Amino acid sequence: MTGVLMAAHGPGRGPSTPSELAKALHRRLGDLPFLQDCPEAEAAEMILLENGQLTAAVYDLACEYSAPLGETIGRAAWLPTWTRMRADQIRQEAYAAMTATGRQEDYVASRKFLIEHPAGQFDALREQLSSEGAKLAPYGYEKIPEDQLHRDRNSEAWWFPCPVCRWPMAVAADRVRCRYRPHSASYRIRRKPVGTRPVLDRIDTGPRIATPKAAPAAGARCVNAGVWRFVVVPGAAELRLYRVLDKPGIDVELWPEADSYDLHVKVGEHEYRADLKEYQSIGRLVDHLAATRPTAEVVLPVTHEHQLSALERAVLPGVRVTTETRFRTRILNLRRRANG
Ligand SMILES: [Zn+2]
Repeated sequence: MTGVLMAAHGPGRGPSTPSELAKALHRRLGDLPFLQDCPEAEAAEMILLENGQLTAAVYDLACEYSAPLGETIGRAAWLPTWTRMRADQIRQEAYAAMTATGRQEDYVASRKFLIEHPAGQFDALREQLSSEGAKLAPYGYEKIPEDQLHRDRNSEAWWFPCPVCRWPMAVAADRVRCRYRPHSASYRIRRKPVGTRPVLDRIDTGPRIATPKAAPAAGARCVNAGVWRFVVVPGAAELRLYRVLDKPGIDVELWPEADSYDLHVKVGEHEYRADLKEYQSIGRLVDHLAATRPTAEVVLPVTHEHQLSALERAVLPGVRVTTETRFRTRILNLRRRANG
């Protein structure tokens, strides 16, 4: 690996021995001479390894780059499986299953179902699936991976839903946290007598949020990591905005016009189109916007509102950008005025 880096960046610009490289993996990437002019400010701040494992921040960024890297990353066995699944492919396959009947209402019901039920008892999920007429993505539900389970001293397994996306959080020793870094609530498993349900204690200082309850892993399943990352994670923000706007006097529609954008909102004569964009890397988002030229207003979810000024600086002709908070306030104010 040291040789690969030297060949790519030239001698004298990076670690020149394996032990120097091993040390560098625990420092800010931006401290490496060949990354000092790195155009990705987020990447420069990242540390690759902590306690011998890839950090969650690096997982996230690798995920966003997995699509353009395509086949190259397909062979990189050291990366987690979900970075090897191409984002576009997963979206397309999930989309194909959900649009199989050709009816918009089936599509919306199926996508909402996946977002609202990324994990649970399989028997109950199956019943609800058929009663709600949802069409599942091809991967369906899988057993919860071992690193998202807590085994107590009786070897009984438990899982904990993320308070934001409801997918099983990652468990490392007694620490529990969602794999998706912006879902930032972190917990520690409290020591409890054998045979009792484990309990979580919050250990970060973020905004108050209900503490997730442990659920038994026996009989439980969760959606595949790719579906979680590319359908459920963005969907949590899409449904949050939908629910807060779905009020009398506001006509709001999810994923309209064959999913060309996320929300169509109408208040009296006023019409708005919103497309939520949740990227860790502003550079990747700007590239995406330049390539796709969105017709809807780009909305940054609450977890990404801090990106607004950087995105406005990288202003692209014809692309309008706002935040979830501003979009919501604008629509609710219009409704108030319309109601007199
Ligand atoms: Zn989450």
